[in-house]
Amino acid sequence: MSFSLAPDDESFEEGSSLQLDLSNYQLFLSAPIPIMVEDWSRVYKAITDLRRSGITNIDAWFDSHPQGVAELRALHSFVEANDAVVELFEAGTRAAFFGRAKQLLPADRTSNTAVYRAIFEGRAACQGERTLVTFSGKRVPIVWRCSLPSHEDGYRRLCFYGFDVTAQKESNDRMQAMRAEMARTARVSLFGEVAASILHEISQPLSATRTSADAALRWLGNDTPNIEQATETIRDAARWARDATEICRRIRGFLGKVPVHSVSSLASGVIDAAFFLISPEANSKDILIEKHLDATLSIFADPLQIQQVLANLLLNGVHAIDAAGANERKIAVFTREAGPEEVLFEVQDSGAGMSEETLSSLFQPFFTTKAHGMGMGLVVARSIVEAHGGRIWAESTPGLGTRFFFTLPTSETSSATL
Ligand code: ADP
Repeated sequence: MSFSLAPDDESFEEGSSLQLDLSNYQLFLSAPIPIMVEDWSRVYKAITDLRRSGITNIDAWFDSHPQGVAELRALHSFVEANDAVVELFEAGTRAAFFGRAKQLLPADRTSNTAVYRAIFEGRAACQGERTLVTFSGKRVPIVWRCSLPSHEDGYRRLCFYGFDVTAQKESNDRMQAMRAEMARTARVSLFGEVAASILHEISQPLSATRTSADAALRWLGNDTPNIEQATETIRDAARWARDATEICRRIRGFLGKVPVHSVSSLASGVIDAAFFLISPEANSKDILIEKHLDATLSIFADPLQIQQVLANLLLNGVHAIDAAGANERKIAVFTREAGPEEVLFEVQDSGAGMSEETLSSLFQPFFTTKAHGMGMGLVVARSIVEAHGGRIWAESTPGLGTRFFFTLPTSETSSATL
């Protein structure tokens, strides 16, 4: 006994009916995995014709024929879907699903080209990811897979298997969020510790300076100003202020002396690690990060510390773009040889840039223009770069974004001479 799978819906190709044994059909319907049967025979033929016409690179062909993806897509049609598909889309009934199948499964450039490429290359299977939107508007991320036959007839009933990966995606997103949070916490806790110790150390001499200055004013403000006492208390004030300066100098020295464990590594590897840390923040703000790297460049540096410098610069770029509400939301990172034995890193953002005044205060402790900023990121970045024998600086044009640069040695010898 056989069973026709041709759905009576006008969106389906005539002649795409599928004759199956009834028990097989029931197995297909009740399979626990969503399975879509689709007719790709005309797509297969079109792609075979393309190859025969001498095209050797289908991606290059798509680049020069932007309509190609949609034109090929128009040649395919849905044939059947099992119960799990109806359930996945929360459609209620198969008829309801087929009534909206074309809207529910619109052309997805990445997924479609994955199949076209696999057909073109004669591969036996292909797979990809996409996000579906159900009847109730819920977004469901899936991984799909499809086996490809070697002959045109087989393409009349291609089976696409879908796997709901919501749970995996959620735990992945949670991991990403946790990683971002850890990076932020590490940054904040380092700055927090430094800030707390500086505050603790200098608050005493600072308040003593203020007390002495107030007393001096009082001596001078008397009906008969007591110049001698005033001079004495001003001397005290100056001594307290010197103490505060000395404490700052010591703390700065301490910052610069964070032990550096330098090793030779690829500059691109350190950049990848920093990208990994900040990408959740950049993604959530819809900011694209581009790399223009010389893949052969090595640095002789402490990878963790340089990663911290890069993460700081990248995060500042993300904040600058976000604060500016810029249309162009892009950060670009470049590396190039800066001279013999020296690599130059550049982090460019499309934020609002900064004024001359901000530019000249950037590396001063506690300088910040952010409501919740700490003003220590660039201080730490500078002390790290300088501890490696490098230099760090910024260039910015208000309205046109900012570029941070820093240099690092390429080898132990150059690190010693820088
Ligand atoms: P924080 O981020 O806590 O403010 P930083 O030392 O990292 O501390 O930065 C200090 C200040 O430098 C920021 O508050 C901001 O005003 C300015 N700044 C840093 N990077 C950028 C940038 N890419 N674009 C514009 N301003 C920047």
